[in-house]
Amino acid sequence: MDNVKDILQSLTSISAPSGYEMPIVRFLKDKLSIYSNLKIEEDVLGNLIVTKNGKTDKSIMLVAHCDEIGFAVKYIDEAGFIHFSSLGGVDAHILKGRDVTIMHHGQPVYGVIGSCSVSLSRNNKSKDIDISDLWIDIGACSKSEALNNVSIGDPITFKTHYNELRNNIFSTKSVDNRVGVAILVSLIDKLHNINTDANMYFVFSVQEEVGLRGVITAGYNINPNVGIAIDVTHATDYPTINKNAFGEIRLGKGPSIPIGPNFNNLVQNKLRDIAIQNHIDYQVESISGYSGTDVAELQVARGGCQSGLLSIPCRYMHTPIEMASYDDVLSAIEILYKFCLN
Ligand SMILES: [Zn+2]
Repeated sequence: MDNVKDILQSLTSISAPSGYEMPIVRFLKDKLSIYSNLKIEEDVLGNLIVTKNGKTDKSIMLVAHCDEIGFAVKYIDEAGFIHFSSLGGVDAHILKGRDVTIMHHGQPVYGVIGSCSVSLSRNNKSKDIDISDLWIDIGACSKSEALNNVSIGDPITFKTHYNELRNNIFSTKSVDNRVGVAILVSLIDKLHNINTDANMYFVFSVQEEVGLRGVITAGYNINPNVGIAIDVTHATDYPTINKNAFGEIRLGKGPSIPIGPNFNNLVQNKLRDIAIQNHIDYQVESISGYSGTDVAELQVARGGCQSGLLSIPCRYMHTPIEMASYDDVLSAIEILYKFCLN
């Protein structure tokens, strides 16, 4: 198996927004097919579920959502400009001037998000932007030319480079939640030939960004004793963040092991104990309400599941330049690996 950095780089280059996860599921199936002792299957919603049998009838489910935020083609006007709607929560103010990839029958069509030049729109300078004020320009000269390359409903994602920055920090699109996917892939590689007590279910869930939908069916079908979601959390270590309201979470200081009503205390305490005993960095975050991650549904799957969350701090979430620390990813893998061995 490639190292985690290479896996991450490949995963973030794939265009697979919510509801259109097929390219990433195909990539994962291919990568994981080398482990002949594991069962790899898709459920009706498209979740990819990898199963490894254990010695007892207990089960642990680890879940990372594999979708990303994006857009879909809504309407193509007479001049060939493409109008779009969002898949998941995106701030329209960050969209102007961005490169995008439209996936049309599995092939990429490149475009840019256009807007009226500031020198031509002086009166509009302070206008609040709505996604319907923007359009995608693929260079087409007419509606029919655009329709030859793009269809209504085609998925769209940001097109960005994988940038390695200082202090083992990287930035690209879909860090939310390809870091979680990379962690699961790495755990499968480390655990595939270890005889664990519990049956292990590694779930790459779909449609998280549009309402935690994939984990609902996966959690119900697997009905695990213990579940852990792996996702990103907001880093709050950059200018203008109100720490009084959002607390302090820093990049490179370890994964967050949160506390709150969405999480089972036994699971979270165990994760924290493992980090302490093995001198692995971690951070504590108070999430006093709904966590907005797969664990919120996993916790109440069927008759309930003892479930926890481990998250990677991420700056600039839901933008094309999401940022995280590779050190935090490695720490998360270590903590979860030891948890599964227990
Ligand atoms: Zn996420």
